[in-house]
Formats: sequence, C-alpha cells, structure tokens
Amino acid sequence: MDDTCRIVSSPSKMHKIAQQWTLTEQSIGVVATMGCLHKGHLSLIEEARKRTQKTVVSIFVNPLQFGQNEDLDTYPKPFERDLELCKKAGVDVIFHPKAVDLYPSSFQTKVDGGLLTKKYCGRTRPGHFNGVLTAVHILFELMKPTLAFFGEKDFQQSFLIKQMCRDLRLPTEILTMPIIREANGLAMSSRNTYLCPEQQETAACLFHAILSVQNAVKNGYTKTSELLSLTASLINHTPGMQLDYAHFVDLKTLLPLGDNINTSARLLLAAYIGDNPRVRLIDNGLISV
Ligand code: AMP
Repeated sequence: MDDTCRIVSSPSKMHKIAQQWTLTEQSIGVVATMGCLHKGHLSLIEEARKRTQKTVVSIFVNPLQFGQNEDLDTYPKPFERDLELCKKAGVDVIFHPKAVDLYPSSFQTKVDGGLLTKKYCGRTRPGHFNGVLTAVHILFELMKPTLAFFGEKDFQQSFLIKQMCRDLRLPTEILTMPIIREANGLAMSSRNTYLCPEQQETAACLFHAILSVQNAVKNGYTKTSELLSLTASLINHTPGMQLDYAHFVDLKTLLPLGDNINTSARLLLAAYIGDNPRVRLIDNGLISV
C-alpha cells in the first residue's frame, strides 16, 4: 500500500488540498478523531478508503467538547503511533491542527444542536455535543467531504451530526459503522488506555448488560422500567462500576421510549469505573422486537 501520508496542520492548506481534489472530481472521505487510534477508528478509515478516492483523518483533541473537570490535558496523544497506523491504512492526509488554528482568540460562533444535546451524555457533559458539532462543522466547511464516517459507539453524537447536516443543508453524507469490541465485549475506546487489565475485564459488564437486555426482550419482557432496573442492577452490582445513565431511545427521534418496547430501539448506557482516574465509559446496543 502507498504509504505517503501528508500531515497538514494549517486549515487554509487543508482547504486548498480538498478544493483541488474536488476540482479534479475526486471524492473525499473524512474520519474525524481525537487520535490514540484503535481498531474502531481503523474500521472507519477502511470504509472511507473503500468508498472515496481521498481519505482524510483529522486528529484533533477538541477543547470545546471537554468540561472543566474532564481529561483534556491528560487525553492520550501518541501521534507517531497514529501516523504509522494511518500510513499503513493508506490515509492520504492527516489533518492535525492546533486548537488555536481552529479557534483563534477572536473565535465566537458555536453550533447549537438543540434539545437532544442536553439529554443522555449531554446531561452529564453540558456543552459537550455543541463543542463536537462546532468542530465537525468547521472540518466539513474546510473540506466539503463527499462522505464522513462515524462510529455507532458514539450513537448520540452521530445522530446529532446527521441532524446538523440535515438542518444546515450541509452536502456531506454521514455513514455510521458498527461498534468494534475487544474479545471480552468491551467497546474499544481511546479512554480504555486509562484502565488496568483487571478494569478492562470489569468494564465488559456494560456489554454483558446489553446482551442480557437483548435476551430478556427476546423472551418477551418489554417493560422499559423493568429492563432499565435489570440494567442498573447488573452494572451497579459489578464491583468498581457505577451507572451514570441507561435509556431506551427511539431510533428515528432519539427520544426516550414510553412504558413498553414495541418497536426496535437503542439502549444507551454510560458508567463510571475506578477512582483515580474516574473513567466514564459509554456503550449501546440495538434492541430488536
Ligand atoms: P474519538 O477519537 O473517540 O473521537 O472517535 C472518533 C470516531 O471513531 C467516532 O466517530 C467514534 O464513534 C469512532 N469510534 C470510537 N470507538 C469506536 C469503536 N469501538 N467502534 C467503532 N467506531 C468507534
């Protein structure tokens, strides 16, 4: 595989490269990441390589999406390793801007995704999703990608990005890809690097809770309150784990389901593990009836 992979940090340079590709009718696929790449990211890159002629991976730890007591400063940044992975995967450009490149001191304008940015993960992380949407909107405006690839791991995030593209008439089509998991079921995440091997085993209880709910629904249990109690008890009875939230959401609206699951839905979960650092993990799964 051709391993020429340019690293671009200047937004105007990135814009020019993308404009040139568009002028020469080459389709552009974007994978937006915060780096510390793993197989989940690589699955998105692989799909972008299949579907578009040019692949850009952005690596940007976006300060706008971190709250005050979150891990912005300690977020892992193994750039050389990421570069090697991108080269091997056939990425054309890594867009790696500094925060000040995207948000100069004069920067004021933010995207607001409305009601849904305040629910689920947004309740625990106020401002998070608007920070994500603002950064993604800037990336999309710079590159005007044909396609952009996001993981179902961040289900609420990809829903909100699709909503932004629809509402603001952005021309980019959003494709979502399945969650890539470790052998024990734990959803891959850059934040798993905060966990010791034992915690990585414990944290797989999120996936096992999803499997238990899927099983219960298959066996005819459809009361959301009972299924949510089951989820909470499975997670909270795992030593070291503490549930942040569990919700069943409608696939079309992302709003909470009523008393009964009578149509396919998504179970969204977040939980904390450990004390120092206290790590917040998310997961989700399709619940089919
Ligand atoms: P992040 O670097 O965590 O911001 O993630 C960048 C992109 O990779 C997002 O679209 C995530 O949803 C996606 N992603 C992260 N983890 C996984 C995973 N385990 N499986 C699939 N996609 C993932």
